[in-house]
Amino acid sequence: MHDAKQRLFFALWPDASTSGALATIAQEVAVESGGRATAPGNVHLTLAFLGDQPAHIACDLSAAASRISAPAFDLVFDKVESWRKTAIAWAGVRSVPPPLVALHDSVARLLLATEIEPDNLPFAVHVTLARRVVTAVRRPLAPPLTWHVAAFALVASELSSAGARYRVLSSWPLIGNA
Ligand code: ATP
Ligand code: MG
Repeated sequence: MHDAKQRLFFALWPDASTSGALATIAQEVAVESGGRATAPGNVHLTLAFLGDQPAHIACDLSAAASRISAPAFDLVFDKVESWRKTAIAWAGVRSVPPPLVALHDSVARLLLATEIEPDNLPFAVHVTLARRVVTAVRRPLAPPLTWHVAAFALVASELSSAGARYRVLSSWPLIGNA
């Protein structure tokens, strides 16, 4: 039987206004670093990367993810940095909110329960702004950008002639007032 693979990851997906603001910063950082800005509709924060999975896994994951109960929170992006090894520039937060760590832990437990090998890298909270960076960047983001995180999502990464494109398969609300 043919079981098509999907390249999956859990992520925080920005609302339109946050996405637009991050895309604008990405353009600036691309110019500054000599890199290529992340396509505006692709800006996200990865919670867990699952890699290629059989297509039926997305259903199991969705059922399990819908049972996660976690509070909404604010992420305050206040710095822009780059990593030499991966040649990416990214936006980050000086203060990682505990509810984000809790959500990341919940997703990691969900993956263990679904018998998906989690990647054992430490959770690096970042939004990729530019790739193939040639000049390092390390500066405050002023003024800071606040993203009110009210949901998390399961996303499929699909390759097209224009590069990776991400498709939100499902998303689940976090608990809390807007
Ligand atoms: P490309 O690999 O073609 O440059 P991409 O990295 O944007 O594109 P994917 O490789 O599908 O797209 O990755 C989807 C998301 O998961 C991205 O945010 C990426 O940074 C993250 N990611 C990819 N591989 C890993 C990994 N091994 N560990 C943790 N996160 C990963
Ligand atoms: Mg990749």
